[in-house]
Amino acid sequence: MKYLQTTIIQPFCLSGIGVHSGQFITTRVEPSGVNTGICFWREDISVQDNKIQATIDNTVNAQLCTRIENQAGIGINTIEHFMSALFAMGIDNANIFVDGPEMPILDGSADPIIKALLNAGQKQYSHGVKYLHILKSVSIDGEDGSWAQIGPASDLQISLHIDFPDDGIGQQQVDYSFTSTSYIEQIAPARTFCMMRDVVNMQRAGLAQGGSLENAIVVDNGKILNDGGLRMENECVNHKVLDCLGDLFLSGMLVSGKIKAFKPGHALTVSLMKMLLADKSSYEIRTYTEDTPRAGGYVQFPKVAAAVSA
Ligand SMILES: [Zn+2]
Repeated sequence: MKYLQTTIIQPFCLSGIGVHSGQFITTRVEPSGVNTGICFWREDISVQDNKIQATIDNTVNAQLCTRIENQAGIGINTIEHFMSALFAMGIDNANIFVDGPEMPILDGSADPIIKALLNAGQKQYSHGVKYLHILKSVSIDGEDGSWAQIGPASDLQISLHIDFPDDGIGQQQVDYSFTSTSYIEQIAPARTFCMMRDVVNMQRAGLAQGGSLENAIVVDNGKILNDGGLRMENECVNHKVLDCLGDLFLSGMLVSGKIKAFKPGHALTVSLMKMLLADKSSYEIRTYTEDTPRAGGYVQFPKVAAAVSA
């Protein structure tokens, strides 16, 4: 059960290649105060405003990742796996310092981030956490027959369907009810993926410069090219759930609603959230309390502390 806002106790660092830039990047996650949300800081930039708050309004168009940008045009790419892991572990406030233009891709999943968060411990504030309570359905059509919808539900549920023109991925479907325990088992280990036929075009477009079999599932004509194959059945659609949760968290709140999508991607999920938030009759912002905590399981951190003062 969760109703209080949290941050982490101990700062931690994670380093690795940026999947699109190919740069080696180090990021440091630190605790932050109540109601500060998730904030990224570009430490390689000092002459301009280098603070980028993770909000839906700060998202900008980007290919194959989620990018946020501040008023000065300073941005950070590929934040979605970090946002997803923070959301899933119930960490509402954190400062994330990074020395390059994108977050490290690590092994392509959220597993290393989850392990680091659990190790860092969780500090609880005495303030309730806000959530988006969906009142009516909102839907959006995307490119190539894709669509997404969010509607009322007493909890957070995600039903996704993907359809890729390579039998290594093919059609996959998942109906997922969010709990952080099921996230750790089913969603966090699911790696990002691509089709070999797209790799050349991505690299010509300056993307996927750091992509490799160490950080992505690659399929080619029905075959998984990675040693050891997949980590689980339907790993690709489970990774889409991971991405979707990261993008939902750009609302800055937890979400109580049911998301359904066909061929979802970052741009589609972000557009859906923008459309939802633009229509004030479609949602209410509520606060969880001791009497009305968020339903669904949250994993117990090995280290938990109460904030001395908020
Ligand atoms: Zn992803």
